[in-house]
Amino acid sequence: MTYQAPVDDFMQALKSVCGLDELIERGLVGEIDEATIRAVLEEAGKFGAEVLDPLSVTGDKTGSKLTNGKVETPPGWREAYQSFAAGGWASLAAAEEWGGQNLPAIVATIAGEIWNSANMGFGLCPLLTLGAIDAIEAQGSDSLKQTYLPKMVAGQWSGTMNLTEPHAGSDLSQLKTRAVRAADGSYRLFGTKIFITYGEHELTENIIHLVLARLPDAPPGTRGISLFLVPKVLVAADGTLGAANDVVCAGLEHKLGIHASPTCVMKYGENGEGAVGYLVGEENRGLNVMFIMMNAARLAVGMQGVAVAERATQRALSYARERRQGRSSLSTGAEMAPIIEHADIRRSLMTMKALTQAARAICLMTARETDVARRSKDAAERAAALNRVALLTPVAKAFSTDIGCEVASIGVQVHGGMGFIEETGAAQHYRDARILPIYEGTNGIQAMDLVGRKLPLEGGKVVLDYIAELNRTVEEVRASNRPEFGRMGERLQEAVAALAEASRWIGGTLQRDPDNAMAAAVPYLRLFGLAAGGVYLAKGALAASRNGASSAHAPGAQTIALARFFAETLATAAPGLKASVVDGAAALLLSPQALAP
Ligand SMILES: Cc1cc2nc3c(=O)[nH]c(=O)nc-3n(C[C@H](O)[C@H](O)[C@H](O)COP(=O)(O)OP(=O)(O)OC[C@H]3O[C@@H](n4cnc5c(N)ncnc54)[C@H](O)[C@@H]3O)c2cc1C
Repeated sequence: MTYQAPVDDFMQALKSVCGLDELIERGLVGEIDEATIRAVLEEAGKFGAEVLDPLSVTGDKTGSKLTNGKVETPPGWREAYQSFAAGGWASLAAAEEWGGQNLPAIVATIAGEIWNSANMGFGLCPLLTLGAIDAIEAQGSDSLKQTYLPKMVAGQWSGTMNLTEPHAGSDLSQLKTRAVRAADGSYRLFGTKIFITYGEHELTENIIHLVLARLPDAPPGTRGISLFLVPKVLVAADGTLGAANDVVCAGLEHKLGIHASPTCVMKYGENGEGAVGYLVGEENRGLNVMFIMMNAARLAVGMQGVAVAERATQRALSYARERRQGRSSLSTGAEMAPIIEHADIRRSLMTMKALTQAARAICLMTARETDVARRSKDAAERAAALNRVALLTPVAKAFSTDIGCEVASIGVQVHGGMGFIEETGAAQHYRDARILPIYEGTNGIQAMDLVGRKLPLEGGKVVLDYIAELNRTVEEVRASNRPEFGRMGERLQEAVAALAEASRWIGGTLQRDPDNAMAAAVPYLRLFGLAAGGVYLAKGALAASRNGASSAHAPGAQTIALARFFAETLATAAPGLKASVVDGAAALLLSPQALAP
């Protein structure tokens, strides 16, 4: 079953949720028009379906292999990567100054979904490179930018992100990799990093590692971490490649999923001299720079959740139309009915579709605000957009990757026993999806970021403004009085009211009793995602209804049906989640006894 990029769904989300017409009119997405955006997405979809998708299953079976320090990616990977770079796909959003196409984040974010739906093991390589480009562009010296960005933007060199060490995962304050100053102004690095995605491979002629390390006189904790650019192959002043740097891949992890993506143990400075590195940003302020990379990567990982959900949904839909079992209320003859006719399978498929589209809308709204923050001429609007990106990024990452796992799991269930058998492909999505809530900051850490850092932004004004905006759409739904909306308005009103009450409770608890507030963080983030996702789908339904989609067969009727389904069957969890937030901490206080050995 070949992947098909859902270009109509993308365009619908861009137009009715993100307000594409206004973005274009105000120049907030550059010079591009709607027809060009559609054309880019259709071409990307073709590349995903024709080049990347056919390699996904073989990549999963073969995996990447390490021989004598060199990683060999699965057959066909290298050629696919070369056409990817040659087609300009590596550089959609990068600045023209570095050879990029300067396309808006909303387009690049959807392209990321396409690569990852088609082949998640492949999609990770460009994902990390884009994050590295952002960090170098934001904080690298002119010389680093001139030397590295054009090659990275062209896809000739790839990028990695080196944070994790055996004793420093979520808690980076514990990291031990050392950097010492060299006489020529560069640095020498010593240490071991683990779990480094695409830390070594043969797809590109050089790999640019961004490595967190500590200087000898650095203060302890996170205030003493610096960021260094460490190339796999040293680059001469004229840009030519020279000797190998002192960086080796010492091992590859055996994993549950994304087998084709090499997850490497990287050793720096094993040969005594130290790996040559160049400071990015200021000494001891590396974590701030890394956050630039991490925020971009968090949205991109959220989109991986959407991507795997979309792929699992397409596969389940196709299977449910083919597989026949039992008789349904629609059956007339003696034949067994396709399982899609059974109410429970339709519920499963609608759940998959609705969750996928809600998560996509949240991610695209985050990307939209990135575009506004980048291109608005109004400083106040830019600042507000940056705050909105900050607020939505943990939700985009965690909600979307949680639903990626859930949707992939429902996909297995729709296939029955065949879902557990590898040949249908449903099992691969389930295995691949499971890393998404873990890397790029676990979803527990995302929830703590939302509660601890993002809700207090501007004294709570950022979240309150956001909730007020959600409420305006809810009011529009209620005022519209459309019979085809069913109880969508009421259910969404309850969901947003639950979000408002939970936000107030956290606002009042965070300072007084931070442990209680953090205990509520995960259900709070879920509640946030359900309320936001439900309202964004309703925006789509309102637009469809304005365009005349009242009958079940009119274009846009599916948009309304999904929005209504989400509001009436999924957003209904919101009041329960609010209760978990507001009252759950008391039960958690009992956990030391309950968890006692
Ligand atoms: C396939 C794969 C690819 C990866 N790619 C990269 C990469 O390219 N670069 C890179 O640097 N890293 C990478 N990682 C590492 C990944 O980002 C970490 O695994 C992740 O950040 C979690 O760290 P940890 O594994 O040490 O878990 P831990 O930090 O030990 O966490 C264990 C559990 O405790 C929870 N927890 C930890 N601290 C707290 C706290 N303060 N409060 C509440 N709960 C807490 C976590 O949420 C988690 O559930 C990758 C990992 C994998 C498996």
